[in-house]
Amino acid sequence: MRIVRSIAELRACVGQARAGGRTIGLVPTMGAFHDGHAVLMRAARDACDEVVVSLFVNPTQFNETADLAAYPRTEADDVEVAAAAGADVLFAPPVEEIYPDGFATRVSVGGLTETLEGASRGAEHFAGVCTVVAKLLNAVAPDVAFFGQKDAQQVVVLRRMIRDLDMPVRVEVVPTVRAPDGLALSSRNAALSPAERGRALGLSRALRAAELAVAAGELDATRVRAIAEAALGLEPEYLAIVDPDTLAPVETVGGPVLVAIAARVGATRLIDNVVIHRPVESTGDAPPGAGAAPERPPMSTPPRPVEVPATERRPVTPAALAEMRALGEPIVMITAYDHPSAVVAEAAEVDVVLVGDSAANNVLGYADTVPVTVEELIMLSRAVRRGMRTPLMICDMPFGSYEASNQLAIRNAQRFVKQAGCDAVKLEGGGVSAERARAIIRAGVPVMGHVGLTPQTATALGGYRAQGRTAQRAREVLDDALALQRAGCFAIVFEAIPADVSTLIMQYMEVPIIGIGAGAATDGQVLVLHDLLGIHDGFAPKFVKRFAHIKQEMVAGVKDYAAEVRSRRFPASEHVYSIAPEELDRLRAMLGARAQQAASAA
Ligand code: AMP
Repeated sequence: MRIVRSIAELRACVGQARAGGRTIGLVPTMGAFHDGHAVLMRAARDACDEVVVSLFVNPTQFNETADLAAYPRTEADDVEVAAAAGADVLFAPPVEEIYPDGFATRVSVGGLTETLEGASRGAEHFAGVCTVVAKLLNAVAPDVAFFGQKDAQQVVVLRRMIRDLDMPVRVEVVPTVRAPDGLALSSRNAALSPAERGRALGLSRALRAAELAVAAGELDATRVRAIAEAALGLEPEYLAIVDPDTLAPVETVGGPVLVAIAARVGATRLIDNVVIHRPVESTGDAPPGAGAAPERPPMSTPPRPVEVPATERRPVTPAALAEMRALGEPIVMITAYDHPSAVVAEAAEVDVVLVGDSAANNVLGYADTVPVTVEELIMLSRAVRRGMRTPLMICDMPFGSYEASNQLAIRNAQRFVKQAGCDAVKLEGGGVSAERARAIIRAGVPVMGHVGLTPQTATALGGYRAQGRTAQRAREVLDDALALQRAGCFAIVFEAIPADVSTLIMQYMEVPIIGIGAGAATDGQVLVLHDLLGIHDGFAPKFVKRFAHIKQEMVAGVKDYAAEVRSRRFPASEHVYSIAPEELDRLRAMLGARAQQAASAA
């Protein structure tokens, strides 16, 4: 990693990379790195060829001199963190390099900056942020710039600046990284005493209270705010419920809302936020073959074809799963890839059916899950949809259908809902997948997460083996699960994790967790239908229990059939249709006349 101090050196470094055809990612920061910064850098590392991290404590965005003076500066440690996270260039300029004598320009975005942080910290705060970020974007000219959702208003303001000034850069937003107890990581946390740190948990507690209130059906913003404030236990500088794009206050939670808090804990000013989605009701198109229904009913009860036998059960929704978790009722989930399996799932009163990308190896004959396409899974999902009414139906987003960008992820997730009638989609992994999950949820499609062994990237994890068997890997599984939970996933699959690790991680989980090879502590279990029924009888992972031996039955049946065909014992008299004797005589007469005609013509 190169450390550069001047804009000229920076331009030279980046120019070389660009000339070599490399894509460039920029991560602007003020240093004192923590895991939140590292996650941003790793996201840039994953998405771009050349990663530039800037480290500059920008004086113009501080409204209090004392705050600027107290801001932590830990450059020597930061160098190590940036290098370990894969940065290629660390740009750490002195103040006079950014603001030379006579500097007189100010970039300011109207409207959006007059509320929340702008109202609390004064108009100069965002002018300082916009000016320095504009300078960095000009100096680096990155393809992608990475920012944290932790500073939600900053993202909204910078997006507007970039749009208004036609800056040719894509913005990627990384979900807020938190400590296991919920506290959002921040460079300022280091200043908290142990007692203050305890009180600081009020911020995430308040956001969680707001989320739970909305999930429970409270849509009046004033009441949600009051519930959050009661949980905060601190005097907020602001605690606002606003539109996540315009930042205008909302009265009713009718779509996604941003709940944003700023509060002082002792001398330390902290901010945090969450985007909350009210329980989703889709207005998308009906899936093909569902008939000419004039309106698409809510996603939880998509149109079901008439041939499915009616049951007493109510359709299972994400909210119903949360309720089962709260009541301690185990959740039953299986995979299904076709109509007969869906009918079985319905008849067996399964709660959740996954049209898994494991269809790739279980029914399409691929060696692993990587090659299966969105089109193939949509076709299978449609067949499953036609076979069941009540289980919640989720489809896996296959490898390659969501990783590259939020836009791609949203487009493909919506195809599963609109074209196949799925209720939700599932994505593998934490990190960037959590960001994709957040974007998909924001676009109106519920998402189930998946951590531990993630078959799409099994090679990178060392093959199909249990995950989280060292403290470090277990910690990473926990971090992934927390990121997905924070992103708004309604449930998460834990795959191939030691039972003791699951038990520990479950203490941090607030959404239903469905385990596969993850022990008994999870809220439910999922198995692949072909494994549990023994439709395959080859290798099965340790966590599979066979509840039937269908392949043996199938082979025996087909062998008997072949033997009877060969010995002419099949078909027997009971398998043949009959014709009335007089009709047969008429047929013979007809054919006889025809034979005579043919003979005379010759
Ligand atoms: P800062 O150094 O505080 O200016 O932050 C630099 C970048 O890191 C900004 O885009 C922040 O939004 C982001 N960031 C800070 N804290 C976190 C966090 N806990 N999780 C994710 N991103 C963060």
